[in-house]
Amino acid sequence: MIGYVHSIDTFGTLDGPGIRTVVFMQGCRLRCKYCHNPDTWEIEAPTAQQCTIDDLMKIIVRGVPYFQASGGGVTFSGGEPLLQHEFVQEVFSRCQQKGIHTAVDTSLYVPEDVLQEIIPFINLVLADIKQFNPGKSVELTGLSNEMNLTNLRLLDENKVPIWIRYVVVPGWTDDVEDAERMAEFIRELEQVKRVELIPYHSLGIHKWGILGLDYELKDTLPPSRELMNNLVSIVRRVSGKPACAYD
Ligand code: SF4
Repeated sequence: MIGYVHSIDTFGTLDGPGIRTVVFMQGCRLRCKYCHNPDTWEIEAPTAQQCTIDDLMKIIVRGVPYFQASGGGVTFSGGEPLLQHEFVQEVFSRCQQKGIHTAVDTSLYVPEDVLQEIIPFINLVLADIKQFNPGKSVELTGLSNEMNLTNLRLLDENKVPIWIRYVVVPGWTDDVEDAERMAEFIRELEQVKRVELIPYHSLGIHKWGILGLDYELKDTLPPSRELMNNLVSIVRRVSGKPACAYD
């Protein structure tokens, strides 16, 4: 089996607990206006690395001393890693046989049966909510958020630990009422252990230019610290979950 890989970070500290090997996979169905990795959208992109499971396991196993010292492990990110779910599942299965913690950073835009099948091999899901308001979700990402929210409930029912991630984009995802509705939804999910609010940045803008794509948010500035703090306190108060903002 071949996996189409965008890149690998062998010392990641942002995508799950501890020090992690983070594998960024090709392929995504969404078209988020702020995407900083539009070069991951196509699975078989000319720049993709084709990896076998054995190749990848050799890289992952080298990280075991760091995983053990820090409580880390492996995270699949992207793109949307679950578009290549058979590959990810097989790698996770081998990781679990070796006692390596497994996490997936996902937008959850995959059919329920795909998610159900891979759940036994996942120790933690870093789940994006792109936009809680369905209409605004279509505008921001190209798709409704229905599949995303249905799959969050499925994870919760199956007792999979979840960290929620929400990117704060001024003018797009900073509405207080939307944040309150999202926090009410999160409050009902027992398995949500934390909520991370991530400030928008435009670091991927040059990739849009290289790919000949129009970056609509070129005039959008990162959110202020005050806005981030306000949304964090709303989410914390309404959801009752630990919430934090990334710098
Ligand atoms: S889900 Fe992630 S990779 Fe896909 S378009 Fe959105 S930001 Fe980009």
